Amino acid sequence: MNSVWNCFLLWPEMGEGAADHHDLLTTWRRMLLWGLPAVQGSVVLALLLGRGDTWDRLIDPWLYLAMSSVLVLSWLATRYRWRPLRQVTTLLTAGSAVFLNVKLLLIALLLEPQFLLPELLETLVWLPAVITWTMLTDLSRPVRRVLNWMMAGVLASSVLVVLRPVLGGAALNVDALRALIQINLAALVSLYGASYFLRRSDLLGRARGEQSVLRELVYTDLLTGLPGRVRLNEHLRELTVRGEPFALLVVDVDAFKVVNDTLGHAAGDELLRGVAQELQRLAPAGSGVYRLSGDEFVLLLPGADDHAAQWEARRLLTHVPTRPSLQVGMDITLSIGLSVYPEDATEPEELLRHADSAMSAVKCAGRRQVRRYQPQQDAATERFQVLARDLSLALTRQELTLRFQPVFRLRDLKPVKAEALLRWTHPQLGAVSPGEFIPVAERVGLIAPIGAWVLREACRSARHWGGATVSVNVSAVQLLQAEFPQVVQSALHDTGLPASQLELELTETAALYEDERAARTLRELRALGVGLSIDDFGSGYSNLSRLRALPITGVKLDRSCIQDLPGGPGGDFARALLEAVLGLTRHLPLDLTAEGIEHEAQLATLRDLNCPLGQGHGLSHPLTEQEWRALLGRWDDFRSVGAAAS
Ligand code: C2E
Ligand code: MG
Ligand code: MG
Repeated sequence: MNSVWNCFLLWPEMGEGAADHHDLLTTWRRMLLWGLPAVQGSVVLALLLGRGDTWDRLIDPWLYLAMSSVLVLSWLATRYRWRPLRQVTTLLTAGSAVFLNVKLLLIALLLEPQFLLPELLETLVWLPAVITWTMLTDLSRPVRRVLNWMMAGVLASSVLVVLRPVLGGAALNVDALRALIQINLAALVSLYGASYFLRRSDLLGRARGEQSVLRELVYTDLLTGLPGRVRLNEHLRELTVRGEPFALLVVDVDAFKVVNDTLGHAAGDELLRGVAQELQRLAPAGSGVYRLSGDEFVLLLPGADDHAAQWEARRLLTHVPTRPSLQVGMDITLSIGLSVYPEDATEPEELLRHADSAMSAVKCAGRRQVRRYQPQQDAATERFQVLARDLSLALTRQELTLRFQPVFRLRDLKPVKAEALLRWTHPQLGAVSPGEFIPVAERVGLIAPIGAWVLREACRSARHWGGATVSVNVSAVQLLQAEFPQVVQSALHDTGLPASQLELELTETAALYEDERAARTLRELRALGVGLSIDDFGSGYSNLSRLRALPITGVKLDRSCIQDLPGGPGGDFARALLEAVLGLTRHLPLDLTAEGIEHEAQLATLRDLNCPLGQGHGLSHPLTEQEWRALLGRWDDFRSVGAAAS
């Protein structure tokens, strides 16, 4: 039924839930559209079929044919939404107005009374038709003006007709007078009645439409459909005015930037919509979810204290990332900051700022946590902002350098490769650890240029190492960038380092195992001939069974796995784990490097188990390029001395 009705539609609907006034307007126009040709057709038919003197005089075949054709064409144009319709309407209305007015004027001045009535009747037929027809298009200003002038002309001509006897003409008969009154009434009613109705509903509709669009824009976030900052501020103000306690959670999506940068904006938007839905689903009754900006959401918990808010936050931390709709090929985690009214602040803006800085503190401390605002945490937020700001200058100001931590073949302690470790000496803050600034670089989108610089520097240096390999750390963000293999290739090409002397260390993430693009990038890298090893293996995401599926050449066992060797609290377990990993890497086969060797005993156990490679402060701290090359040189000397002695 609805679809049948829809095919009669003239103007596009406003979409579901369109306002009543709009429906009314559409119905009204629809009636006009279909009513007009019907009425006109029947009038013309009646005239054509009509008999008697009066009717015969009315049939002016050519004029009717022309006007009917024009009306039919205009009707079709209206029906099929022909674009220049407005201009045509204006022209047609103006033409009709001139024609009808001239005609009335001639009637008034020239015609004998007995011919008056048929001519007036003809006008009566066409005048309302023209006016009504113009209503079908939007009443544009020129059309409205023409119609007004036409109406004024009709009135003036009618007055002239009435005044004929006074002006010396023949007197009017009653029928003609009646026809004249009918003309004016019909025209007035159709013109002003319809135009008033249309204009009113148009104006009303537009005003209401604009108002609601404005409201929507101000109050609602278009992407997620959640209320935005303005609405949040209003609610906060209402609560603080009433003095009711509440808690605020600022929820930030950690992986958002990575998703946006690597999977594209559409995926980023999808993720935000998904998170918005999950937050709404998990929000307790009576609470409110808002989108603050970018990847920041707010959960407002009226009546909640610190304890209740922490509980809700932990619920979000555990449940949101596990939702199937948010499985985008990389770990989605949340960082949540919270502030409580009235303990933490009494002003809404301040509360929001506090919760936000608590969230930033979580980011600095490693994400995936909830933290309540603490006055001293402002310092942490400030540091994050300073690092983010200055990191973009670090490259150009040459504040970044590389250190090289030797990796030894444990059997004879030969230095076989070195891991390039990035160092940043900030002009005011001094040395900043990569553990602190790499996540900042990832978050603010600087990891790609910094990573490319590290690669180039490391390759340039390794050119002079006499065959020793350089290991370069690669962040998951870099790995997911489609152009990364290109970056590696040009670093190798430009520096002349053989691909076999470069190894990339990849941190274990879900993306590494689950993202098809990451797998493709790995294959491309492997095809270049560079080594690929899994860094920090055993510290978190380790997935032994899936190691086989990756085109990797090595594994670096995280220092947490060997710190209990041999006599630590979990010593036996650590040894068993090490044996298992060693067995596996021999079977696959993969290079195994034990990281973080600090003590003699650890080294002894590793050697005992035939672990091939090792690295750690117990063997060597990270060195400058010169120190590392000196170490390589000493080993060569030592070997040649050894060879000479034997
Ligand atoms: P990682 O790749 O696991 O690097 C090893 C880290 O452990 C280094 O810290 C190193 O100095 C430290 N380490 C080595 N031996 C020992 C030991 O015996 N005991 C202890 N406690 N620590 C030891 P660093 O240089 O602070 O680097 C931290 C992390 O920053 C690195 O972990 C790596 O994930 C990241 N990183 C460093 N440079 C880069 C880089 O150029 N690009 C990227 N994407 N990440 C980097
Ligand atoms: Mg590493
Ligand atoms: Mg490591």
